[in-house]
Order: sequence, then C-alpha cells, then structure tokens
Amino acid sequence: MSSTNQAYSFFQGVERNFDKAAKFTRFEKGILEQIKACNSILRIKFPVKIGNDIEVIEAYRVQHSHHKLPCKGGIRYSMDVNQDEVMALAALMTYKCAMVNVPFGGGKGGIRIDPKKYTPFELEKITRRYTSELAKKNFIGPGIDVPAPDYGTGAREMSWIVDTYASLYPGELNAQACVTGKPIAQGGVRGRTEATGLGVFYGIRELCNVEEEMTKVGLPVGIAGKKIIVQGLGNVGYYAAKFFQEAGAILVGLAEYEGGIYDAKGLNLEDVMAHRKNTGAILDFPGATNFSNSADTLEQPCDILIPAALEAVIHKDNAAKIQAKVIGEAANGPLTPDADEILNKMGVIIVPDMYLNAGGVTVSYFEWLKNLSHVRYGRMEKRFSENMNAEIVKNVENLTGKRIGEAERKMLLRGPDEVDLVYSGLEDTMISSFHEIREALKMNQGVEDMRTAAFICAINKVGVAYEELGIFP
Ligand code: GLU
Repeated sequence: MSSTNQAYSFFQGVERNFDKAAKFTRFEKGILEQIKACNSILRIKFPVKIGNDIEVIEAYRVQHSHHKLPCKGGIRYSMDVNQDEVMALAALMTYKCAMVNVPFGGGKGGIRIDPKKYTPFELEKITRRYTSELAKKNFIGPGIDVPAPDYGTGAREMSWIVDTYASLYPGELNAQACVTGKPIAQGGVRGRTEATGLGVFYGIRELCNVEEEMTKVGLPVGIAGKKIIVQGLGNVGYYAAKFFQEAGAILVGLAEYEGGIYDAKGLNLEDVMAHRKNTGAILDFPGATNFSNSADTLEQPCDILIPAALEAVIHKDNAAKIQAKVIGEAANGPLTPDADEILNKMGVIIVPDMYLNAGGVTVSYFEWLKNLSHVRYGRMEKRFSENMNAEIVKNVENLTGKRIGEAERKMLLRGPDEVDLVYSGLEDTMISSFHEIREALKMNQGVEDMRTAAFICAINKVGVAYEELGIFP
C-alpha cells in the first residue's frame, strides 16, 4: 500500500502543506520554523532474544513539539517505520491536537518490525524493552510523553507499556496516565477502541449535513444512501465502516492488503468480516467483483472514499483516476501533496487527516484525564441525573395528567454512563472543529481547501502558544 514514488519524503510532504498555509498567518519566519521543527528525536537499537537468535530491533520516538506537555501520539509496529515517517507522523500529531483543542504537543513512536512474524510472548518482550528504553531516556511519563495505539498496536501492547512503566516507577500515583488506549481494567476509558472510526463518521456526517458543501460536489444532503469505499479494515477503517453502515450509507467497496471487493448494490460489513475470517481474505465475497491489486479498489465509483490504512496511497499516478466526490482521510497522510493538488483541482472535497482522524487522540485525552482524576466518568453524576430526570418526568405527568410511555420513560430517566459522556465529548469536538475549519476557509481569501484551512487553525494556536511561552520576546 505504499506510494509508487520511491523518493517521497512524508515529512517534507507535511512541511509542504504547512508552508502553503503559513502564508496566511501573521507569524514571523522564526516562529514558523520553530513550529515546523521536530524538537527531539530518539533513535534506539536494542537486542531481543527471539528463539535461539539475538535480533537487533530498530525503534524511534519523536517529540515534535513541546509547546504543550505531555507530547502525545501513537506507537506503530511496521516494516515501513523509519525516521522520516515517525517525524512526519509526530508533526501531524502537533497539528491534530491543536486543531481539536487537545492540550498536548505532538509525538509519535515506531518499532521497525512486522508484528505478524512474532509470537505474543516475543512482542511482549520487544514492547517491554522499548518501554524501558523510553523511560531511560525520559521519553515516557504522564507529564512528559504519552504513547497510544497506532498501526500494528492495540490495547494489549498498551497494557504491557503501563505495566512496565509502573514497575519502573513504584508508587507513582499517576503511572496509569503514562499511556492511553489501555484495556478498561488497566485504566482505559470506554469508547477509546472505536474512537478514531467514530470520529471519522461524525466528521463526514457533519460535512454531509452542510447543504453548501454538498451542493459544491452535486450530492444530496445527509449520510443515508451515500456510496462509500473504505480502504483498510483495521481498527480505524472497520469502525468507520460500521458507523457509516449503521447510519444508512452503502458500503460499495472494501480494500485490504490482499485485494479489494466492490459491489454497487452494497456489501454487508459483518458478512465480509466473517467471510475473511473463514477464508483468510475478503476476496471472492459472493456477488462482489474482485480486485487482486488492492489499490484498484480506490478508483471505483463512489461518493465518499475513506483511506484508512497507511500514508501515500493516493499519489500523482492514481489521483486523477479517483471517482469519489469526497475523500475522508481516516489514515495519516494518505494523499501525497501532488495528489492533493490534482484532486483539489478536480473539485474533490478532501477532509484532512489532522482533523478527521483526531477522534483517537481526543478520547485519549479523556482517558488521560480519567487516569489523573482517578475516577470513572459518570460515577459522580449518574444517579443524581437519574433522580432529577425522574422528578421532571413526575412533574410533567402531574401537570399534564398524562403518563409517559415505558420506552420513553426509560430513555428520559437514564443518567449518563462513561461511554455516553465519551461519545458526547467526541461528537462535540468533531462538530465544533469542523465549523472552525469552515470558518477559517471563509475568513482567508484564496484558501479553497480544508487542509490549508485546518493548518491555518493549527498554526495559529501553536504559534500563539510559543509567543506566550516567551521564547520569542
Ligand atoms: N495513533 C493515533 C493517531 O494517529 C492516536 C494517538 C493518541 O491517541 O495519542 O492519532
């Protein structure tokens, strides 16, 4: 799933997009350079005994910006991990956090391994050793740098990280806040697993609800009935597809690394997942057309294309073949700047990664707050809300002389659980940030794409923070 353009530098790609937007901000060159620079880069090599051999593992952690602490961003396990990639992803985290008003600097980590080639025991050894290396260099901690899941990692890896960290700092009251995306029993928050996919859904739904935007691309308002192609059925793509389907969108195409499938009448996500589990691939799904070259799936007819896997999957050689009217960047950096230019000229609405996939880090922020406050969301207010609601319902019934139906009563009386509050915080973040971007589009003459507008919002916030820090008197 990588670009055909071998010389492509992801970090330079991010810088190119940054420069395009920086022209519309008021900051002097020095501040812009400081915002752009990666503040700290850690590259480590450590030995791990795998079977009878010792393997030297290459790993990174990049702290792109310290304008707010801790730094925040996932850890990726993939053979594509290299310094340029981790730097680009860390930079995107800075802009992402600023875009959605999550008070962190950007960071990212990566281990250059193919996780499928290791047993869980071996992965645990690698993860724990990586965590100790981060601790040794002061690159992890609740107020320093807080990793999270990313491509190739999940709650399991996060639980190894928190356990290693806690054992290195016995008695640290806030040790659980050293990493997010943990299992619930280890201090995770309900709703984090599906958060990125749900955020993608909320963001695209908001776009589809704005008539002015839909008119630009000649589509009707609303998400129901929209034809969608999703590339990548990992944590982000799977949940995004699930929420789209539940809202009445039609999944016409799905792509994974083994190939893609397409059916204009629609594919049932759970049936495709079951088929993949049974046969080992999404290919040969009943009634669907196969694409042995997965990337071909992206070029099929649809309204909305959701690349939810890796970077640079849409580049200068395939951009013009895209038929979608809207591209929602669920992955980080799925479009190269060349592709971005081509598609903008074609009038495609591109909803940028730094906004659209920010649901993950937003809910990570909620998890971090939960860990620092040592109390589950909803614990204090759930019963109080239920009692108040019961009072209101009773009073309405007394005043009207009518009784509310049982189903409505149940709905009205319910106090919020943790997951309700997390979803509501996420929904509010995605909706308000979407309108912040639209506002920037309107305020800056000459800016026509949402990525540049989002960069303007992010640069303004990080720039002001640097000014306020007094670094540039
Ligand atoms: N890896 C995710 C991202 O790229 C989540 C980061 C986090 O939760 O810190 O945004």
